[in-house]
Amino acid sequence: MGDRSIAVLGLGRMGSAIAEALIVAGHEVTVWNRMPDKTHSFDGRARVASSVVEACGVSDVIIVCVLNYDASDALLRVRDVESLLVGKTLVQFSSATPERAREAAAWAASVGLAYLDGTMSAGPKQIGSDAGTIYYTGAPETFEACRNFLEGLVGTSVYCGTEMGHAAALDFAHLGVMCGTAMVVYNALALLAAESVDAEELFATLPFFDRTFLERISQGVASRNYPSGTASMTIWRAWAEQFVQSEVDAGVDPKVPQLLRDYMIRAVELGHGDDDLSALYEALRPQSV
Ligand code: NAP
Repeated sequence: MGDRSIAVLGLGRMGSAIAEALIVAGHEVTVWNRMPDKTHSFDGRARVASSVVEACGVSDVIIVCVLNYDASDALLRVRDVESLLVGKTLVQFSSATPERAREAAAWAASVGLAYLDGTMSAGPKQIGSDAGTIYYTGAPETFEACRNFLEGLVGTSVYCGTEMGHAAALDFAHLGVMCGTAMVVYNALALLAAESVDAEELFATLPFFDRTFLERISQGVASRNYPSGTASMTIWRAWAEQFVQSEVDAGVDPKVPQLLRDYMIRAVELGHGDDDLSALYEALRPQSV
């Protein structure tokens, strides 16, 4: 059994996977979600809180995994909740820019809350397994105090030090390379399809690219069916907005993440908000066909 009680706020694809892994590992877990229906699968296995105040009141550690920091701030930065957070620990898994992570750390310090920013280069299916990576920034003693349950979440937990933007920057770099590559591949597949050339001809001859990776990111393209087992296009789009802002804040030309974000917006507008990242192909293929 774990020695600290843990609240998980946000039971979407990722928050549910985190809560599940903590319960399986024997920790005392309290769950809360804005729409209560998502708590049902935890009935009898975790304490189901009816409010954020209740969840924070009974827990030593509060894990947040919601759409973005604006949603998280609306939950936590209210007087009734802030007063309960003194002396506790917040582990923030919602995606945000390095600048927002720095600002959140300053807020946490102002209310007497220990704070870790965690960024996940992992999908929900990897949570509780020995795959996937999570990067953390925050005070070393805070990471050490949480190490026993954090290391059970994925195969690799990387403590990045006290520079609060570090984990967020790594997350955008890591996933940016992956998504940017996927976008370029879907663009190539759109051209091949328009010219009636089999994608296999590309995959068989393309140098430098791992064949397994190409096949994995292209899953669904041939059938034009993109069920999401990881992050939805809506979540990717919210993530890409943060990616753009991170580069603007850092003075980097943001055209690359803007292009990625704009194709994600188009994919959502085409009705693929609940679908996998590979539905980006729909935004890149000729729209009239
Ligand atoms: P999801 O399945 O779409 O779930 C979103 C969660 O956020 C739900 O619990 C939702 O509550 C909650 N939420 C949204 N707006 C809210 C608001 N205004 N107030 C309170 N709760 C709100 O998303 P997810 O895939 O779990 O992603 C959650 C976070 O993890 C995101 O920041 C994402 O970037 C990050 N992440 C996800 C993955 C992944 O593979 N899924 C990987 C790395 C990082 P309701 O159910 O009430 O709508």
